[in-house]
Amino acid sequence: MLSATDVTKTYRSGERTLTILDDASLSLAAGEAVVVTGPSGSGKSTLLYLLGAIEEPSSGRIELDGVDPFALKPKARARFRNESIGFVFQDHHLLPQCTVLENVLVPLLATRAATAADAARAEALLDAVGLADRRDHQPAALSGGERQRAALCRALINEPKLVLADEPTGNLDPKTADTVGELLLDLVKGRPVGLVCVTHSMTLAAAFPQHRRLRDGKLVEEAVAAAAAG
Ligand code: ADP
Ligand code: MG
Repeated sequence: MLSATDVTKTYRSGERTLTILDDASLSLAAGEAVVVTGPSGSGKSTLLYLLGAIEEPSSGRIELDGVDPFALKPKARARFRNESIGFVFQDHHLLPQCTVLENVLVPLLATRAATAADAARAEALLDAVGLADRRDHQPAALSGGERQRAALCRALINEPKLVLADEPTGNLDPKTADTVGELLLDLVKGRPVGLVCVTHSMTLAAAFPQHRRLRDGKLVEEAVAAAAAG
């Protein structure tokens, strides 16, 4: 479903070339979830920008369901990204003037008007994360954990093939972080969607069935905790 093959990303810094990713490879089938850990500055966000077709690799190949997003023209690529990929960030990025329900529907509004079926899907997602009774509230009325739960629903509203999460629990206290991490895994479980989550949190990482570590720009396999395996 997702394959990244020998992906390299370099940035120029004056005379020097910084190599952030160096022949990194990753493949993921629909329904699989993988966590990528590494210290700050190791290239976690860069990896997600490449997998999410936001930034182009310096070399290597990325394919999502057989499509190379960088072979598409910018407009088609933006549409592909919107329809195929759901993003969760460290900050929730909810629109303050919209209700929770409206926020969940936002990715869909980029291409068409929301239907009753869309609203029903949004409500089912909100129900799954325990926010059914918060649908008409604005984000300011919610706690940090509730906002991030709404952001999880927004990432799934288009029934994406791939969900990319960048430090999704990074702004939450430990207990709330655990809940949001579990909900993220629960939401993708049983759906034909792949999940790539990057984090420096070993607690979050321990909940995942697959674990890679970014080391010297490469993705190396890490043993997983027995509880998360299988
Ligand atoms: P992480 O998310 O693991 O903290 P990042 O992917 O954000 O790491 O950054 C990895 C490295 O790439 C950092 O050293 C950062 O300074 C560098 N970097 C990221 N984006 C750019 C850019 N646009 N230009 C130059 N260097 C960048
Ligand atoms: Mg980062």
